[in-house]
Amino acid sequence: FIRIQDVHKSYGAVKVLNGISLDVAEGEVLVLCGPSGCGKSTLLRCINGLETINSGAITVGGRNVGTATPGELQSIRLSTGFVFQNFNLFPHMTALQNIAIAPMKILGHSTREARDEGRRLLARVGMADKADSYPFQLSGGQRQRVAIARALAMKPTVMLFDEPTSALDPEMREEVLQVIRQVHHDHGMTMVVVTHEIGFAKSVASRAMLLDAGEIVEEAPARAFFANPTQERTRRFLRAIV
Ligand code: ATP
Ligand code: MG
Repeated sequence: FIRIQDVHKSYGAVKVLNGISLDVAEGEVLVLCGPSGCGKSTLLRCINGLETINSGAITVGGRNVGTATPGELQSIRLSTGFVFQNFNLFPHMTALQNIAIAPMKILGHSTREARDEGRRLLARVGMADKADSYPFQLSGGQRQRVAIARALAMKPTVMLFDEPTSALDPEMREEVLQVIRQVHHDHGMTMVVVTHEIGFAKSVASRAMLLDAGEIVEEAPARAFFANPTQERTRRFLRAIV
């Protein structure tokens, strides 16, 4: 569903992605890990066209991100839900307003329709009673669950998660991971998740990959990746994070 072919990406003279090739099949969950600065966020941003690539090709659902017209790019972005480390909720809007705004403004849904769907999504992430709370009134885990509901409101075909739990206290991590598991279970949605949560990765991911200095070090079925990594670099990385 996502096809990445020999992608190179630099910021000025700094090479960030160095010939990445990767396929993510429909319904698959790929976990991406790697040390800070190795290019994980950049790769996610290239997938939904937030960054342009220098060479290679990326297609999402058969649509080429690199050669897309502005209209097509908009449509690729809309069908790609992005959940960030730091929630990025609109601070002056309630949880429900945060979720309903894009379906109203961008998809042209009526207020009624968008709010009904918003309430349904809030219930799905266990936040039915917080519809009228503002982000500052919510815990980090609750904010992240609202952010996930907000991404789902756009009916994406792919979800990209960039360290969705790394800004959270350990107790809040599990509630967010559980929501991500549930979303995958309910929709069989294609997902790329940057995370160092090994328990989650083992239980949800079909494949896992280690990126280092903009190159794929190892890529394998998740179970094998964590239980029997073939590369010394992967073993060293996994030892460091557990
Ligand atoms: P982390 O685990 O810390 O989030 P990461 O693997 O997500 O790291 P990226 O954010 O993709 O890493 O960054 C990869 C490299 O690209 C880093 O060296 C970073 O400084 C550089 N970089 C990222 N964004 C930009 C930018 N907009 N302009 C210039 N350099 C950038
Ligand atoms: Mg990052």
